[in-house]
Amino acid sequence: MKLLYEGKAKYIYDADQEGLLHVTYKDEVTAGNGAKKDKVPGKGRLNNLISAKIFQYLKEHGVKSHFVEQLSETEQLVQAVDIIPLEVVVRNIATGSITKRLGFEKGTTFEQPLVEFFYKNDDLNDPLLTDDHVTLLDIASKEEIDTLKSAALEINQHLSALMAEMDLRLVDFKIEFGRTPDGDFLLADEISPDTCRIWAKDSDQNFDKDVYREDTGSIIDTYEAFLNKLEDIER
Ligand code: UDP
Repeated sequence: MKLLYEGKAKYIYDADQEGLLHVTYKDEVTAGNGAKKDKVPGKGRLNNLISAKIFQYLKEHGVKSHFVEQLSETEQLVQAVDIIPLEVVVRNIATGSITKRLGFEKGTTFEQPLVEFFYKNDDLNDPLLTDDHVTLLDIASKEEIDTLKSAALEINQHLSALMAEMDLRLVDFKIEFGRTPDGDFLLADEISPDTCRIWAKDSDQNFDKDVYREDTGSIIDTYEAFLNKLEDIER
């Protein structure tokens, strides 16, 4: 297969099928825009399995994504889209960059979920964008910004319900959208503990990449525990 792109956590190959791509999840973990980086055997498998299950769950709840099917423990088939250079972040509880930027105390629950856009640009360190920046950069029109925000909030409702079923809390998450050849937005990339912050119901025990960012535990044990909870609610 022809390698089209290598990202921090995935390889993207030409699937030799019209309009489809083959994604292989890597055994790599990075934090701080690549400042911290490690090879972690078994991590690609966990991200692939978790992301596939979450996209499947969203599909069952009427949310389309680029996910087509899981091919193996580390591979999935996805629809080819043009990724929009935005990281769309939804926050239910304050932690991470918003505590530093705006002074919210970690653990503060927002009255309404908050949507933020960050510019996907490693050279600029993924800066926060206002809506006017998004239109100025010609990334999306005002109408499209509203569509992206509504889609992100709808996904937040479904993911929050899923986490609640698992006795967990969805603190925040990042999603990406692509444009299909028809010009429609489609949820893309991955949804996993790499891209979400997930806390236990009654404490701030993490089930996400913060264990790696903050060196507080084993990323494999943590993601395995999350996957087990996800599988438990299916039974
Ligand atoms: N996030 C991500 N990729 C990034 C930056 C953030 O998936 O490049 C996720 C992160 O896991 C968290 C949410 O987006 O769930 C909000 O992250 P935040 O802005 O607080 O950034 P951080 O504290 O990780 O720098």
